[in-house]
Amino acid sequence: MIRNGDDIRLNFGGFIPLSTVDWRGRSVCTVFFRGCPVRCTYCQNAAILSGENYRDTDDIIELIKSSKLAVSGVVFSGGEPTLQRDALIALARASKKCGICTGIQTNGIFPDVLATLIKSRLLDRVALDIKARWARYNNLLGGNYVENVQRSLALCTEAVRTGALSEFQVVITLFRGYDDEVASIVQEIGDVDLVLQQGVTESVLPLSEEELKTIADKLARRVFIRTREGGEVIYESDRSRRASRKR
Ligand code: SF4
Repeated sequence: MIRNGDDIRLNFGGFIPLSTVDWRGRSVCTVFFRGCPVRCTYCQNAAILSGENYRDTDDIIELIKSSKLAVSGVVFSGGEPTLQRDALIALARASKKCGICTGIQTNGIFPDVLATLIKSRLLDRVALDIKARWARYNNLLGGNYVENVQRSLALCTEAVRTGALSEFQVVITLFRGYDDEVASIVQEIGDVDLVLQQGVTESVLPLSEEELKTIADKLARRVFIRTREGGEVIYESDRSRRASRKR
């Protein structure tokens, strides 16, 4: 057994031993971290945004290792994994020691934690949520978060450029009536992989895959479209194809 030796504990939100949707092209297990300072009204994991369920990280490492026959990676999700810096670093380090690739789904509000993980080569993949155009960010999230998210975006982009990070994608969760946000966000993110994810709440009819494709048609870039009905598909509009031919 790999021991941390430091008695680091994780406020645990759950564990999925096998997932084929959390990392495109890879079977992974997923560790959910309990707790998130943000309160998105559409959060799909609202049950683990607060509360306490502390576990020794050594026990979580055993869970990850027990999936190793079926998976090649682990995804740290939540809640917000970077909220629990020490547990996250311990789990990422132990996973790497076991030969398991590591990915994280994050809202980007703790860029220093991301920077430490990337600098220590403990992350292979980052999926960063960008929730709105910058001008609306702090109001939407109810806190002063925008500069930290911008720093996370910049440091992940730079890490991909230098080879310190293998995979990076920006995830935009889209709701009916807010589709005009996309063009503004896309201007800010540069040439990174972009996921347009169907937002689901009880109060608004979710955008369909076709509607998301129509939104993507206005962007001269390839996107990944993610819906409940269709899973994740790669979509390249005519405009995007013409733009790639010119590059
Ligand atoms: S940032 Fe993510 S985990 Fe936190 S409330 Fe929003 S959707 Fe949920």
